[in-house]
Amino acid sequence: MKSLTPELERRRREHLYRRRRVAAGAQQPELVMDGKPLLTFCSNDYLGLANHPEVIAALKKGADQYGAGSGAAHLVTGHSSAHHALEEELASFCGRDRALLFSTGYMANQGVIAALVGRGDAVYQDRLNHASLIDGGLLSRAQFKRFRHADHAHLREQLTAQEKGEALVATDGVFSMDGDIAPLPEMAEICARQGAWLMVDDAHGIGVLGEQGQGSLAHFGLNQDQVPILMGTLGKGIGTFGAFVAGSDDLIETLIQQARSYIFTTATPPAVAEATRASLKLVRQESWRRERLQSLIQQFRHGVEQLGLPLMASPTPIQPLLAGSAEQALRWSQQLEQQGILVSAIRPPTVPEGSARLRVTLSASHDEKQVERLLDALATLQIEEAV
Ligand SMILES: *Cc1c(COP(=O)(O)O)cnc(C)c1O
Repeated sequence: MKSLTPELERRRREHLYRRRRVAAGAQQPELVMDGKPLLTFCSNDYLGLANHPEVIAALKKGADQYGAGSGAAHLVTGHSSAHHALEEELASFCGRDRALLFSTGYMANQGVIAALVGRGDAVYQDRLNHASLIDGGLLSRAQFKRFRHADHAHLREQLTAQEKGEALVATDGVFSMDGDIAPLPEMAEICARQGAWLMVDDAHGIGVLGEQGQGSLAHFGLNQDQVPILMGTLGKGIGTFGAFVAGSDDLIETLIQQARSYIFTTATPPAVAEATRASLKLVRQESWRRERLQSLIQQFRHGVEQLGLPLMASPTPIQPLLAGSAEQALRWSQQLEQQGILVSAIRPPTVPEGSARLRVTLSASHDEKQVERLLDALATLQIEEAV
């Protein structure tokens, strides 16, 4: 049995060591982390629904009605009327035939890819796809190809070279660490022409993009025929927990029969499904949350551009500042924290080598004054770096 210490020490030395913070209380911009009050800009609770009174009330009521645990997998006794109603509401929300709940987005990606392709087939993925898509692709045993980020011409080249087997193309809708949106209309056209499945992981688009928050497919006006597989998560913009896949009746039935991460796991507590149902109503109705986000994004981008910091191009609440080295990203993060602001440093292997960054995220629960505070703190970074 080898010693684990040297690898841990290497990570420390290379500024790649990760540590957890302990948050007291509910998700909101002002958090007490490790006993210290901090203004945070790194949560994925984009619409500020994780701590919404109506969502909390639905969770409590759901617990009274259904108890604390689901007791079994969906295929045994765990599939409650709360789960079932939520699936129907999600399908109608996304304009798709049906939806299927998974316990997490990570599991949904694993389950879908391995259910649809295997040995003798091929999976094509954007280089910057989320780790759960990458892992799902590897687990499926299909031939694994990665195309250059957001480069549909490169995808076309790879797809046309495939001689046999099924093809599945998977992409983030909104890229989790970059905030940019995939060229979905072009990808949909290429996939249709080549007879390939197109799967969009919209973990960061759901709730945020589209008229009622239906995500990046609604943003582009793409329907179920153009993008047959939509995966959405419920723990980010929706503010609760879990994930879903939406698409045709045949797709959903196939997943129920074959997706191992659906079949072999306990259903999430029904009360959580009730909380999500309440949240989904707010997502659809309260478009002011999306409008407010857009105005905070404009305020932030305008401010950062004036400071001359290396802001990446992004129209979404994910607004990364490119630091380069892991050491630089960590130092920036520490300098902000000294001023009472928390933005975590994102380092390899989450992002490619040399592209460590501060991943700033904005939420509808932030206000203009808080964004001002962030900009003031960022201004001091620039001065120190210029010295
Ligand atoms: C967070 C995330 C996931 C995983 O979803 P969970 O429900 O947190 O497991 C999948 N894909 C992307 C792009 C994500 O950002």
